[in-house]
Amino acid sequence: MNIILMGLPGAGKGTQAERIVKEFGIPHISTGDMFRAAVKNETPLGLEAKSYMDKGLLVPDEIVIGIVRERLAMDDCAKGFLLDGFPRTVPQAEALTATLKELGREIDHVININVRRELLIERLTGRWICPICGASYHTLFNPPKEAGVCDKDGGKLFQRDDDKPEVVAQRLDVNIAQTQPLIDYYVEQGLLRNINGEQDIQVVFAEITSVLRG
Ligand code: ADP
Ligand code: ADP
Repeated sequence: MNIILMGLPGAGKGTQAERIVKEFGIPHISTGDMFRAAVKNETPLGLEAKSYMDKGLLVPDEIVIGIVRERLAMDDCAKGFLLDGFPRTVPQAEALTATLKELGREIDHVININVRRELLIERLTGRWICPICGASYHTLFNPPKEAGVCDKDGGKLFQRDDDKPEVVAQRLDVNIAQTQPLIDYYVEQGLLRNINGEQDIQVVFAEITSVLRG
């Protein structure tokens, strides 16, 4: 099953992706996670991406498309994949369609998680992440059992630099501007399914699985 998970920053993509990949046994491909790993390891890709990420701007299409193309060609994607945070622009979506066509494959489902802007700001500024497994928590909405510590592996939770209030508004605006044409693109292809992301994590997950199984 080849799935795209869409939604603005803070909509709950990472939270749902973790559950979806476990349920369906497919790899989770998060371009944000790939860039953060590259930044941490100080690779040439990371150094280039960092200047955009720090400002809440999108990394240029040709860079993102290149890393996704390489990732999709790997063996573990043969049975399917979940894309999280990609595509984010129409040129990225068109490049994805072309790459999959070369591989003799296509997208089966596009899930779009909707959450209002005010709520996204609250979610992003209260988000804490595990450096080991990438799980995200929220101080109010989804707290870990012990403050500051990951439930799964004991990792010491941290806040992302781009989740600071001064960067969050810019990141949302950049993403909102890019998203509508992308939504139109997948509506035209008859693939887009909207999910109300303002419900409890478990309810959102149940609605997503019912779309994927349907
Ligand atoms: P994204 O990957 O789309 O940026 P995350 O999955 O990291 O979003 O979620 C953003 C923040 O909102 C995290 O702190 C997460 O714990 C919290 N969150 C995710 N889903 C929900 C939900 N359904 N209700 C309340 N809080 C949520
Ligand atoms: P979010 O929680 O904002 O959804 P991500 O973790 O997906 O954030 O992405 C973090 C940053 O990585 C983005 O602000 C952007 O700079 C870069 N990035 C990730 N995916 C893409 C993409 N598909 N196109 C361009 N830039 C991207």
